[in-house]
Amino acid sequence: METIADAVRPAGWAEAPPRAWRGTSPRAAAASPWFEVHPLPCGGRAIYEPGHFQEVISFLFEGRDRALLWDTGLGIGDLRAVVEGLTAKPLTVVNSHAHFDHLGGNRQFAAVHAADHPAARTRILRGLGPAAVAEHMSPDQFSRPWPPGFDPAKYQIHGTEHIPIREGHSFDLGGRIFETLAAPGHSPDSLMLFDRENSILLTGDTFYPAALYTHLDSGDGLASDFQVYRATMNRLARDYGRVRFLYCGHNEPVQPGAKLGQAAAAFEAVAAGTRPFREDARGLRRYEFDGFALVADPAKIKGL
Ligand SMILES: [Zn+2]
Repeated sequence: METIADAVRPAGWAEAPPRAWRGTSPRAAAASPWFEVHPLPCGGRAIYEPGHFQEVISFLFEGRDRALLWDTGLGIGDLRAVVEGLTAKPLTVVNSHAHFDHLGGNRQFAAVHAADHPAARTRILRGLGPAAVAEHMSPDQFSRPWPPGFDPAKYQIHGTEHIPIREGHSFDLGGRIFETLAAPGHSPDSLMLFDRENSILLTGDTFYPAALYTHLDSGDGLASDFQVYRATMNRLARDYGRVRFLYCGHNEPVQPGAKLGQAAAAFEAVAAGTRPFREDARGLRRYEFDGFALVADPAKIKGL
């Protein structure tokens, strides 16, 4: 078995060439250059944070009457100014799940919709103090300078009002409808939004083209669960594997729907115990696949 220093954050990540999807001259958002804004097929925009290891992506969509913001990113730049520079319509904000990198900008908005889950509700209302998020602020996790006025030592996630939603809830922006799906596994409160007319699934962290985390556990009820994640991925592959586009929460905004079938097969291969892996000093295993990876904690998976 090969060993690696860190199954989650490979050495040299910051020296990698800029991601090809951004084009040759990516445009920083005028209102807050920490972000880049990229147009999406079928309308909408990806709001990307390339300067931090997480490379998190939030999404903005407009209908005739309203706009919808899917996630609020790291909370390092002024997301609200970026959004207000893109739409003047009344805004609905939705969190894909309550991990820090998707609710960092929540404080800039009056309320967010998120899963009707007790631990998610607590975290969204209370936020996360500096000690809980300090591990994400080390200088080696930044690939560009942070914005003027931002102090990593004071970084924290502030709470905001939580409006609970469940599978079946739909957001009608006027000519554009997003249906809510429950997608537990990466976290128990993970949601997705489905735009049936345009055949687009907003996947949050359940699928993106990088290392998928099945191992997270911050001890406050929002832990990953490999077997639940596996079941969700099988459901997604069966019911949504033929969608045109996945809009993903990290690294690259747009992926083909066929990736869901590949991800489901990846979970099956890992669960079967036949897939090669590398292991890091913490005992976390990293399994490589075509364009993505799985990180798993064998102590939490029976039979691995
Ligand atoms: Zn994330």
